[in-house]
Amino acid sequence: MTHESPIRIAVIGSGPAGFYAAGHLLKDASERFEVDMLEKLPTPWGLVRSGVAPDHPKIKSVTRVYEKTAAHPRFRYFGNVTFGEHVSREDLLAHYHAIVYATGSPADRPLGVPGEELPGSHAATEFVGWYNGHPDHTHLEFDLLSAERAVVVGNGNVALDVARMLVLAPEELAPTDTANHALEVLAESRVSEVVIVGRRGPAQAAFTNPELLELGELAGADVIVDEAELERALAVADPAAEEDITARKNVEILRSYAAKPPAGHAKRIVLRFLLSPIAFLPDEHGHLGSIELVRNELVPAPGGGLRAQATDERETLSAGLAFRAIGYRGIPLPGVPFDERSAIIPNRAGRVLDPDGAAPLAGEYVVGWIKRGPSGVIGTNKKDAQETVDAMLADLLSSCNGDGPAPEGPARPHTPSEPDAESVEALLRGRQPELVTYSGWEAIDRRERSLGEPAGRPRVKLTTIEDLLRAAAAERP
Ligand code: NAP
Repeated sequence: MTHESPIRIAVIGSGPAGFYAAGHLLKDASERFEVDMLEKLPTPWGLVRSGVAPDHPKIKSVTRVYEKTAAHPRFRYFGNVTFGEHVSREDLLAHYHAIVYATGSPADRPLGVPGEELPGSHAATEFVGWYNGHPDHTHLEFDLLSAERAVVVGNGNVALDVARMLVLAPEELAPTDTANHALEVLAESRVSEVVIVGRRGPAQAAFTNPELLELGELAGADVIVDEAELERALAVADPAAEEDITARKNVEILRSYAAKPPAGHAKRIVLRFLLSPIAFLPDEHGHLGSIELVRNELVPAPGGGLRAQATDERETLSAGLAFRAIGYRGIPLPGVPFDERSAIIPNRAGRVLDPDGAAPLAGEYVVGWIKRGPSGVIGTNKKDAQETVDAMLADLLSSCNGDGPAPEGPARPHTPSEPDAESVEALLRGRQPELVTYSGWEAIDRRERSLGEPAGRPRVKLTTIEDLLRAAAAERP
């Protein structure tokens, strides 16, 4: 590799982590990096498009930063290309100096409780994908007509998103980009109570403050917290939570909810603590009818902090709908090392480690949730991607200077056999004739925005691959 030749990088996945990695590389002073981003869907932005709740348009506006990266002359986007199907790891290593895996954590985590697969019991990830119009989830059905109570298991921001979406008034949803199929079902919903169940206490909840505060501002729903249950959960001291500003503020917000008399809205969100589902029970039609919960107490965890331990106390809550919102899970990529236990690609500071977990592989890097697990907010991925890009730069620098290994366990440099931009594009187009370029995405974007405009909505999402490809093709040169 000479100093003048471009350094070609493939980023797999177009969510925040992938875009921050691309942005950092393109900003490098050497101006030698060329980035091709490969994305399974025709559309970019990952969870910003299909995870962030539709009533949070400000959070979605982060895509303006990614649009700037996408407009860079050394950036190309190849959508509708599936890693492991249209293109393999070996194909990419033949064409790029490095691959950056940015595929996130697309799967849900099961609870491992009997009956959780009953009709009416769902993964929150599926519901989120459905209301956001993700093509993999468009076909799903959620029966919001038969159930009056829904239970959401988990005390993270996804649990809050799901609960809020279930109680938002039609006029609150109308100006959003909620998928049309979901708007119709949500408008007819008979769900009037959503119970959010946490296995630990308010001080241990994973909510962030603005999201918890927002519950108290809903136009059509009361927030109910039982003071006795709240204080029981707070009775065990948690020094780590007392040190944590977010946890302290969460407790303060929850105490204010407990103290506030309900306004008498038609809908309510009830926050319960120290409870774990132990069985999902069917009604007479074989549909979810109720959930058996066990009361927990907080005990010291072996690694520090407090964990939930079941007591003998039980209660049964009738519920026709349940959503488990207990975290996302990464899935393995064909041919790429994967740590089953933590569901991430094993890595050291973003350098992918070989399957034995010791040495870094030449030319393979990882960013975002598939690097560190499903934690943090969108902005967390900026710093995370910087760490990986710094590792890559150190590896490349050590190879250019002939200095030998860089500090912090370097990866050997990788030299592709066909590093030209045209040959890889020809390969991708050969494997996926319906490849969507960035201008194809811009055509989709224009189409969606124009559909939304008459109703004052940011966009009407196209929710099937066929419709997305049709829109992308409409303005293809
Ligand atoms: P999360 O923040 O990790 O929360 C998962 C929750 O599930 C925790 O309360 C956890 O309790 C609970 N849990 C795990 N296993 C359980 C089990 N077996 N039984 C009962 N409860 C269990 O995950 P998330 O809500 O999926 O969110 C993922 C990430 O996306 C987070 O970083 C979140 O902040 C972010 N996000 C942000 C926004 C936003 O900024 N608006 C919106 C959505 C998501 P324990 O603590 O006891 O393990």
